[in-house]
Amino acid sequence: MKIDILTLFPEVFTILNTYSIIGRAIEQGSISVNPINIRDFSKDKHKRVDDYPFGGGKGMVIKPEPVFEAINYCRTTDSTVIYLSPQGKVLTQDLANELAKKDHLVLIAGHYEGLDNRIVENYIDEEISIGDYVLTGGELPAMVLVDTICRLLPDVLSSEESYEIESHYNGLLEYPQYTRPRVFMGFKVPDVLLSGDHEKIKIWRHLSSLKVTLKKRPDLVAKNKSIDEELNLLEILLKKIGKS
Ligand code: SAH
Repeated sequence: MKIDILTLFPEVFTILNTYSIIGRAIEQGSISVNPINIRDFSKDKHKRVDDYPFGGGKGMVIKPEPVFEAINYCRTTDSTVIYLSPQGKVLTQDLANELAKKDHLVLIAGHYEGLDNRIVENYIDEEISIGDYVLTGGELPAMVLVDTICRLLPDVLSSEESYEIESHYNGLLEYPQYTRPRVFMGFKVPDVLLSGDHEKIKIWRHLSSLKVTLKKRPDLVAKNKSIDEELNLLEILLKKIGKS
């Protein structure tokens, strides 16, 4: 997977090369992340990339020409060009799973009041938001996208299981996790996790996952595509442990 990031602040991304799992993925060649400075494509003698908005108003708008040139420099027939924007489709695990299948992403990080709308309308494939709030620039959203995609790529996490059981992957939140010590400040780890009975642990985890989701994010349960399957499974599980 190759990710080019068009930005006015390419230096922000150097952190990724040494940042934990992403750093390792870059080093082992699972992903390449290339920040590209939009300013390098400015034909203006002062390398200006922004200008006042037509019609007046506060703030500056990023000029279309350098962004257009930068997109053309990166884009191939396999590319998906994404503008990180608070007006985009909100990033979800399903969307991340789709993007992780692509070969080449070109991410555009805006700044100031954003991009000239002619770029947004005519030269990008997707507009993606990381949530319904406004940030000062698209650099952090681009990093969020890189992180969530990176961990889905083959051989980045130690086993497939590591992400398949996690929150949101199957539309539910993950079950609660515990590690040593068995008792911390008087709070105990649930007995079942210490029982060594793998079948029981599996059932407990599944039920806990449903319970946690119902408690913290009931909206997800309502949206869950396989809720009927979940309910059937729940019934089977309850019978198994002798409750109905
Ligand atoms: N004037 C714009 C906001 C510009 S914010 C508007 O009201 O829609 C400046 C830049 O930050 C944007 O171009 C975008 O790249 C980035 N940005 C801000 N909030 C974001 C969000 N929630 N998700 C993704 N990118 C965001």
